[in-house]
Amino acid sequence: MKRIAVLTSGGDAPGMNAAIRAVVRKGIYDGLEVYGINYGYAGMVAGDIRQLTVDDVGDTISRGGTVLYSARYPEFANIEGQQKGIEQLKKFGIDGLIVIGGDGSYRGGAALTKLGFPTIGIPGTIDNDIAGTDYTLGFDTAINTVLDSVDKIRDTATSHVRTFIIEVMGRNAGDIALWTGIGSGAESIVIPEVEFNMDEIVNEIEEGRRRGKKHTIILLAEGVMNGNAFAAELEKHKNYHTRVTVLGHVQRGGSPSARDRVLGSLFGYNAVQLLEEGKGGICVGIRGTEIVFNDIIETLETKRHVPYLSLYQINKEISF
Ligand code: ADP
Repeated sequence: MKRIAVLTSGGDAPGMNAAIRAVVRKGIYDGLEVYGINYGYAGMVAGDIRQLTVDDVGDTISRGGTVLYSARYPEFANIEGQQKGIEQLKKFGIDGLIVIGGDGSYRGGAALTKLGFPTIGIPGTIDNDIAGTDYTLGFDTAINTVLDSVDKIRDTATSHVRTFIIEVMGRNAGDIALWTGIGSGAESIVIPEVEFNMDEIVNEIEEGRRRGKKHTIILLAEGVMNGNAFAAELEKHKNYHTRVTVLGHVQRGGSPSARDRVLGSLFGYNAVQLLEEGKGGICVGIRGTEIVFNDIIETLETKRHVPYLSLYQINKEISF
């Protein structure tokens, strides 16, 4: 392996730059040429590819987003798109690829692997919804961003004795709501993995009010329903003057946390090593404190991300 490339795809996430930086620096340290592909698979097919130097990734580790930009490119799900992508990679003399992204990006990587092009996946998404790893890049930063907002909302919720529904990202996975729910002492957490019962939620609010609690915070994952729809449901049971805050894209941005910078560096470093060992079709991850390597096709086809659901019950027992 002499020349490798890296791209970011799908939703951006803080820590992606740390991973890109590690790929470029480790590759060059080992004598490889490292190319950056702009705009994910769209840029690959369009040939938006350039060689990266050590300096190109200087001053990027602390920046959110991705310096390689990202794009959605549904055409890459078709074999024609994938073949065009491989043609471009070959034109540039690239013989190994590292893809940083979420589930969809992994599917692109798996497709390239099936066509014989060595590809390594790095999990990058704030949602933490990737199989084969405990944590994805961006999750830690995102939950810290959410917590910062929830703390502020709690002040006003207390002053006005209000019930606040805070809608956070997570279409398929409730990890953000789960972790920020317990981290903020939210009275209720509503996530796709656990069916909710509005009567139970009302009882919890009432119990808190009886004990003189001045605020109620409900952390809602967007995958359950949107915040306004949830508020309307709650108001049907009881008029709480519910307020809704949709945190939206603020959750995706910002300077990566220490943890995401370290994780990005570890993932990027190990991804390069795998290509150097002649390995492709692997996604890197972390289990406990250990970096792990899984078959990307098997992971996509047979494994599912499971959130740390114990937090749900623990929150019920300590945040009533
Ligand atoms: P994420 O990677 O964050 O899950 P997407 O689902 O949007 O984001 O996927 C990112 C990109 O990966 C898509 O725009 C597309 O180019 C590529 N992709 C998604 N699904 C597939 C698939 N089944 N096969 C090949 N490429 C795919």
